[in-house]
Amino acid sequence: MTDLTPESFASAVLDWYAAFGRKDLPWQREPTPYRVWVSEIMLQQTQVAVVIPYFERFMERFPDIGALANAPVDAVLALWSGLGYYARARNLHKAAQHIRDRHQGRFPTDIDQVVDLPGIGRSTAGAILSLSLGQRHPILDGNVKRVLARCYGIEGWPGRSQVLGALWTLAERCTPDNDAGPYNQGMMDLGATLCTRARPECERCPVARHCIAKAQNRQRQLPAPRPAKDIPKRTTQMLIAMNPAGEILLERRPPTGIWGGLWSLPEIPENADPNDWSLTRLGRRPVQLEIRPSCRHTFSHYRLDIQVRLIRLAEPIDRIAEDDGACWTTPSEAQRLGLPAPIKRILNELSA
Ligand code: SF4
Repeated sequence: MTDLTPESFASAVLDWYAAFGRKDLPWQREPTPYRVWVSEIMLQQTQVAVVIPYFERFMERFPDIGALANAPVDAVLALWSGLGYYARARNLHKAAQHIRDRHQGRFPTDIDQVVDLPGIGRSTAGAILSLSLGQRHPILDGNVKRVLARCYGIEGWPGRSQVLGALWTLAERCTPDNDAGPYNQGMMDLGATLCTRARPECERCPVARHCIAKAQNRQRQLPAPRPAKDIPKRTTQMLIAMNPAGEILLERRPPTGIWGGLWSLPEIPENADPNDWSLTRLGRRPVQLEIRPSCRHTFSHYRLDIQVRLIRLAEPIDRIAEDDGACWTTPSEAQRLGLPAPIKRILNELSA
């Protein structure tokens, strides 16, 4: 264990934050619970520089919880398009409706009620209430886990419940009674800017003199990575059915599962025949079937290889127009809908 007491750790982080931390990010200028909440959800798995323009567009279109709750989910997904992990956007929308219906449209200030909202875990709830209202709650996002695991020499993969428990205990102890907001922001900044995964800048770090990982030259080993396991692979076929007007068929994905609720290309199993699909779904055989460049997309838990087939049709297909879960649109119009990133890429290549 390091010789650094939780109190000295917190005061070193606070001093560093006062001198070097980020204080002018768009959500910090007017840190209401709503704005901090949206920023925290966007920042999960995504870098600050990428998030800023998305956050600003989002706030312009949905300036408050009511505007978000009353918007169609498609409008929310469209603004999220490109950020990935779309469950975040669907949960944000669902949680806004929950707040509208059960909390009179006001963001709850009790942490248990915040954790009850869809898509908000203990760390995110703590971040929202500490950064916007100054409440004292510990946080434990990826950055904070890394700083604590290194400084205090916590062994083991943080995905294991025992290791996670030890980190939460430490996070709880280190969070100061006052200034929890600046302290939490300081921890996130420290992890994002100095104590980075690949190249920590220990010589500029405020806790360097006490850090176990630095003393033992084990920054690369702490925190321990997820135990190695081959990432599974899956192959699928996506179909671009194109009518003579150059419009393509899009189908809405089921609400759960990958890309839930987003518009996408029709998908069939790897070994299925696109001709059969065309006959069954559209009532016509293609006049021409083209093999397009394939596309690969890596999710956190598996890799998807997408084989792309272009089905050219000789005449318009009327029967699909009535179908709620499908639409015909041009590839460029399609870009305005909430599309998964690889589908966007496939359609861009089609227009290129
Ligand atoms: S000294 Fe280095 S490894 Fe330790 S907390 Fe600071 S930046 Fe991270």
